[in-house]
Amino acid sequence: MEDCIFCKIIKGEIPSYTIYEDELVKVFLDVNPNTNGHMLIIPKEHYKDLFELPEEIINHSVKLVKEKLYPLVKEKLDCDGLTFSQNNGYGQEVKHYHIHVIPRYENDHSMITFDKDMLIPTEEVFSKLSDK
Ligand code: AMP
Ligand code: ZN
Repeated sequence: MEDCIFCKIIKGEIPSYTIYEDELVKVFLDVNPNTNGHMLIIPKEHYKDLFELPEEIINHSVKLVKEKLYPLVKEKLDCDGLTFSQNNGYGQEVKHYHIHVIPRYENDHSMITFDKDMLIPTEEVFSKLSDK
């Protein structure tokens, strides 16, 4: 993808603070971090979002976080937990699939807020989703 900034990072055309890479993924520090150690895991191939992504990448990333990245940030940054998240479509700024790996610290007050005025009753949601 010509204009994709994450493809450019993969190709080395844009610099990044790379923490880890292998044949499938690259992990680097987010340029606008939410907490100390906020990283992104991106596949080396361009996939737009979760719906295009081969499951192998997810499994690989989960294993990577469990075995390498969380132990690393726990030891070096003394974090108290970790948020593992990713956006698709609305809320996704960069259209090259990426997982946010965000070390959490007691009292970091990090949270996603939603407009609860948009909520419809749970019974209505359930009836739409369950065909009942
Ligand atoms: P999202 O809103 O889930 O698409 O998140 C995109 C993330 O990419 C944001 O957290 C940005 O700070 C981050 N980002 C954008 N450009 C760069 C870059 N050149 N290097 C590192 N992180 C970036
Ligand atoms: Zn890309």
